Amino acid sequence: MAVNKEAYTSILRELQEKNVTLVAVSKTKPVEDILALYELGQRDFGENYVQELVEKAEKLPADIRWHFIGHLQSNKVKYIAPFVHLVHGVDSAKLLQEIEKQGARNQRVINCLLQVYIAKEETKFGLDEAELETLIRQAEEPGKFRHVRISGLMGMASFSDNPDLVRGEFKMLNQLYKQYTGRITEAVQFSRLSMGMSGDYRIALEEGTTMVRIGSLLFGARPSANY
Ligand SMILES: *Cc1c(COP(=O)(O)O)cnc(C)c1O
Repeated sequence: MAVNKEAYTSILRELQEKNVTLVAVSKTKPVEDILALYELGQRDFGENYVQELVEKAEKLPADIRWHFIGHLQSNKVKYIAPFVHLVHGVDSAKLLQEIEKQGARNQRVINCLLQVYIAKEETKFGLDEAELETLIRQAEEPGKFRHVRISGLMGMASFSDNPDLVRGEFKMLNQLYKQYTGRITEAVQFSRLSMGMSGDYRIALEEGTTMVRIGSLLFGARPSANY
């Protein structure tokens, strides 16, 4: 399946009006497809699996900003720590500690988004409001994290045909996001809200997202909905 350049151009136009960043989600897609968008100027790409990300990054231009958008296991942080641009799905203190450790080892600050559970479905990862507050409080302790920066929130809405349900979930996430944007410390500096995918990015745009993660509209459908 070829890359849909028309879709890319028109989505980009919609996003640029609102100053929203496009993360092109390239999981399962070959490096040729990534290069096709790269040649049109795209630099932010998102991947869900560590090994796939590392293999692709080795083959592709060094100025690509790689976003890790999957569920990151602590024991795999070390493989992406040297180069990852933004980790979207952080949902535990243990994972933050490991990112801190690997950031220190690589002498860099790794930007992270905390994933908040907003969907009605049981299977989604993420923090609830109380867990979010606890994690942020920990990160606010002076000197606790010098190689991690929590730069915002990420969420996935329900996979639903009901736009009101999805809108309500995005609204809730944006409210939380706004609540924390004023709380600035060394390790906590909110400037990014990552919400919206192929099926719901227009709703996310209306609800104030700053970053959308779009795969199938750009690269075509994937073999399985879960991958
Ligand atoms: C796969 C994936 C996307 C992109 O999904 P599309 O529906 O293909 O746009 C976005 N965010 C996350 C976390 C994903 O896993």
